[in-house]
Amino acid sequence: MSGQEALTRQTVDLLRDLIRNACVNDGTPDSGGEIRSVRTLEGFFAGSGLDLEVVEPHPGRASLIARIRGTDSTAPTLALVGHLDVVPVDDGGWTRDPFGAEIVDGEIWGRGALDMLYLTAAYAVVTRAIATGPYRPRGDLIFAAVADEEDGSRFGVEWLTENRLDLIDADAVLTESGGAMVGPRPLISTAVGEKGIAGRRLSVRGTPGHGSAPWGARNAAVIAADAVTRLARYRAPVQITADWRRYVQALELDPTLAARLLDPHRIDDALNELGSLAGFAHASTHTTISPNIVRAGVKDNVIPALATITLDIRVLPDLAATDVDAYLRDALGDLADDVTIEGDDFAAATRSAVDTPLFRSLGKAVRRAYPDADLLPVLSVGGSDARFYRRRGIPAYGFALLSRHWDYGTFRQLFHGNDERIDIGSIALTVAALDTVVRDFLD
Ligand SMILES: [Zn+2]
Repeated sequence: MSGQEALTRQTVDLLRDLIRNACVNDGTPDSGGEIRSVRTLEGFFAGSGLDLEVVEPHPGRASLIARIRGTDSTAPTLALVGHLDVVPVDDGGWTRDPFGAEIVDGEIWGRGALDMLYLTAAYAVVTRAIATGPYRPRGDLIFAAVADEEDGSRFGVEWLTENRLDLIDADAVLTESGGAMVGPRPLISTAVGEKGIAGRRLSVRGTPGHGSAPWGARNAAVIAADAVTRLARYRAPVQITADWRRYVQALELDPTLAARLLDPHRIDDALNELGSLAGFAHASTHTTISPNIVRAGVKDNVIPALATITLDIRVLPDLAATDVDAYLRDALGDLADDVTIEGDDFAAATRSAVDTPLFRSLGKAVRRAYPDADLLPVLSVGGSDARFYRRRGIPAYGFALLSRHWDYGTFRQLFHGNDERIDIGSIALTVAALDTVVRDFLD
């Protein structure tokens, strides 16, 4: 077996163990159970000589950090940051056991296979290979396997940033998500930034009454339904970012369609012509408001006096919290009197520069596998742990290298979706690329 084959085999084995650990984060503090995968990693690193540090800010919510000391304390440090938690599954929506880690036709199935356990496993494998091999990097290499990315990272990178920055601080960072092919050339999507996020809850007041006589009632659930519909139909002002412009160019579309996708007045009508990319195209150019938790009522014969609507709001670059609240008032229109907007959580979009040594190392690794390819910097519409580094001015990229068949639409649909899986070919490409990047950057 070649060295590369061994790295791929190890990544596949470790990935399957991580999937079977089922570290499902449902947003409650006692979910996740990332300690199970921390134990798996402790076993994986046993005998490597690496010092491992485990933190556990809440029972079961553990993260593991390993560091390889470089030979030159002035050389830049690289951190590989992979999360261990996964999102819940839709019961009954899967073709196979979501925690079975079955291998079928060269693909590994399971929740987290793509988001992002294959990357976390690949980071661990590359780290162990360097720790146990003859090569000595000049800069430090940090491997961080972290909890709670799927629910805001308060038991993971946020906690580490606030309490144990010494463990995870670095000069450059790799994390999720990237690697899908864009356009015919192809270009490899690499996340260089991500949209911001605002937390808002709408509270709707009605008047309680007997459910047997609803005529004329001010039912909070009915008002909330109207509010949800208005929010779903609302179109926030379009913003054509430089990232979106570059993305459209990379697609090499028919020029008329490309022009419409770059025109704030015509883009909404062009979205449906993009197939599986439509949702990404919309989110890349609009601040989005998704009403994701709706609650009302306590008893079947009581008209509800209160309803709440929890919103997932993803904010384009250069917008402020006041813009978000203005959009909400605009969307609610004359319902604003019945609806109170609660919450003020706001984190602006983040972005890293691309003229950095790490980005150049990524480009080299990509061209080693695909000589005709290059990187495409992408603004991610979801969140990742990269934001905690970017906010502090540290370049952080979502990087991977996938097989040719991974177009960006397919890639995004499997994130948090049913039948999540990754092919072994992509794992081989990614682990080889990471090995190249780490050695090139730390040399
Ligand atoms: Zn993820």
